Amino acid sequence: MCDACSAAGRNWSLANGPQRSKLVKAKIFSAFNGREIKVKLCYLCSIKLFIGGEKSFLRENPSFNVELSNQHAGSEFDF
Ligand SMILES: [Zn+2]
Repeated sequence: MCDACSAAGRNWSLANGPQRSKLVKAKIFSAFNGREIKVKLCYLCSIKLFIGGEKSFLRENPSFNVELSNQHAGSEFDF
């Protein structure tokens, strides 16, 4: 299960197709006060994170952002 897609309620294996429904481990460093957060991402999400960077990836995935900030940053989280 892709963390970003599941937060958004997307069917990640359908979105990626059978050839690409492989999960990639990724790390988010800068968005949460320098804390290293490990996430599992599908092919499409990992490409988006790689190309757009953490900030724009989290902006495009607001529900994933909320989920991560609830888990990791508490109330200090701020854009
Ligand atoms: Zn995904």
